[in-house]
Amino acid sequence: MTPSVLATAFAFVVGLCVGSFLNVCISRWPADLSVVRPRSRCPNCGHQLAWFENVPVVSWLVLRARCRSCQLPISAIYPLGEVLVGVLWALCVSRWGPSFTALRVAVFLTLLTGVALTDLRHYLIPDGFTVTGLLWSLATALAAPFIGETLLFASPYDALIGACAGAGLIAIVGWLGEVALKREAMGMGDMTLMAFVGAALGPPRTIVTVFLGAALGAVAFLAVVYPIALVRRGRTVPQTELSLGTGPVELPLVPFGVFLTPAAAIMLIWGDALIDRLFLLS
Ligand SMILES: [Zn+2]
Repeated sequence: MTPSVLATAFAFVVGLCVGSFLNVCISRWPADLSVVRPRSRCPNCGHQLAWFENVPVVSWLVLRARCRSCQLPISAIYPLGEVLVGVLWALCVSRWGPSFTALRVAVFLTLLTGVALTDLRHYLIPDGFTVTGLLWSLATALAAPFIGETLLFASPYDALIGACAGAGLIAIVGWLGEVALKREAMGMGDMTLMAFVGAALGPPRTIVTVFLGAALGAVAFLAVVYPIALVRRGRTVPQTELSLGTGPVELPLVPFGVFLTPAAAIMLIWGDALIDRLFLLS
C-alpha cells in the first residue's frame, strides 16, 4: 500500500469511530443526557454493551443486527451513520492529504451531519454541535496562520464577523417571517447553527448559504412535503368536504437545519467559485 492509500484507510477507520460517537450525541443530546456516562446500552432492554458489542459497523454485522440480550433488531441507522462519517473522513484525506485542512473539513462536515440528522429526527439542533462548531471554527481560524494552512476557511477577523452575519441574518429572516406568518418561523437552533457556519465560512459565503438553504428547502417542500400533505388530506377528509375544497391542508413543520447543512457544505467547497460567477453575471 502506498502512503496515501494507507492514510486514507486510516482516516476511514478514525471516521467510523467519530461516527460511532456522533450516534451517541444524536440519541442523547435531544434528551439532555450526558454523552460520556453511562456506557452505551440497548435502548430496548437496557443491556450494557461490552467493548466487542460496541465496535463500529463490525459489531452490528457480527451480531447480525440484533441485541445479544433481548434479540430485538438494532436499527441500520447506526452503522449507516458510521459509514457515512468514515467515507467523509476518507474523502477529506484523499483530497487534501493528511493535513490540518483535511481535519478542519472533516470536523466541519461531521458536525453538519450531526445537526442534519438530529434536526430530521427530533426537530431540534442541540447546542452541543453548534457550540462545539463555533469554538472549533474560531480556534482553528486563529491557529491556521501559524500552521501555514489557511485554505477554504475564513480568517480570524472574517470568522468573527461571519458568526455575527449568520446569526443576524437568521434573526432578521425569523423576525420578518413571524410578522408575515404570525407564528414562529425560525428556531434558536437555526440561529446558533448559522453562527457556527458563519465562523467557518466568513460573511459572503454565509449569506449565500442561507439563501441556498431556503432554495433547497423550497424545492423539497414543493416536491415532497406538500404532495404528502395533500395525499393525507385526501385520506382523512370526507369526500364531500374535499370536493367543496373546505378542508385545510395541514402542513408539517419543515426542519430548516436539514437544508442549511448541505448548503453550508456546498458553500465551503465551491462557494468562492460560485460567488465569483454570480458577480460576473450581474
Ligand atoms: Zn436489548
